[in-house]
Amino acid sequence: MPSLDNQVAVVTGASRGIGRAVALHLGAIGAKVVVNYARSAAEAESLVQEIAALGGEGMAVAADVSQPSAVEQLFEQVMERWGRVDVLVNNAGMARDTLLLRMKPEDWQVVLDLNLTGVFLCLKAAAKIMVKQRQGRIINITSVVGLVGNPGQANYSAAKAGVIGLTKTAARELASRNITVNAVAPGFITTQMTEKLDPGPILAQIPLGRLGSPAEVAGLVRFLAADPAAAYITGQVFAIDGGMVMS
Ligand code: NAP
Repeated sequence: MPSLDNQVAVVTGASRGIGRAVALHLGAIGAKVVVNYARSAAEAESLVQEIAALGGEGMAVAADVSQPSAVEQLFEQVMERWGRVDVLVNNAGMARDTLLLRMKPEDWQVVLDLNLTGVFLCLKAAAKIMVKQRQGRIINITSVVGLVGNPGQANYSAAKAGVIGLTKTAARELASRNITVNAVAPGFITTQMTEKLDPGPILAQIPLGRLGSPAEVAGLVRFLAADPAAAYITGQVFAIDGGMVMS
């Protein structure tokens, strides 16, 4: 198993779902993990305890990553405590689904603010630190709907497609400083975000015939964040979706 000993990983939106699994996977291989959350303080603190029980170290930090001042404070806190950032996983996200003709400007804005602007703000703050270190790995969680669209998700799919463009540009700008930037595009994963969806029509679209687990996504993120073999991969989008979208 690759190691992140003495390295610092920031995971946004880590209090549950995919972010939680990512934080646990990175903590288990030695990373000092920043468990970011917006509202779920108790869940974030209990995850820090869980990481400690695995022999790792975590720190819960509240920050609404759609807000520039909150992101600034988040990275200040990390630098004060641990003095470096080696891995950033831009995972925090939300959906506010409705058909295009019913979508209010505020439904559009709130999703773009978190799912795209939040990624930009954290990526920029982390890159500033990583450029000085001449080392870093950034993984942005997008979605297969950013590749193919989805009725009812104009805001979400636009934001996730934006994350793909941002990933590729950042990969090109930061490569000379030994910083890789990649995107992971999950299909349907069992989390709070998908628990109210009717599984019937979803399963019909998935060749492997089941939803994915947060741990499966976290395994791919861990590879991109820590494996020596991933050092030569940048600017790529990895779908993890049971075969739903094949390009
Ligand atoms: P989830 O279970 O709803 O968890 C979302 C996480 O984001 C929570 O920890 C939440 O913490 C945090 N969060 C929400 N607003 C935030 C903000 N303003 N600032 C910081 N953190 C915030 O979602 P998930 O299903 O694990 O999804 C994680 C990522 O994967 C998202 O980017 C999502 O778009 C993407 N994704 C998910 C699926 C899927 O099928 N589940 C598929 C494709 C892509 P608080 O409770 O503290 O707010």
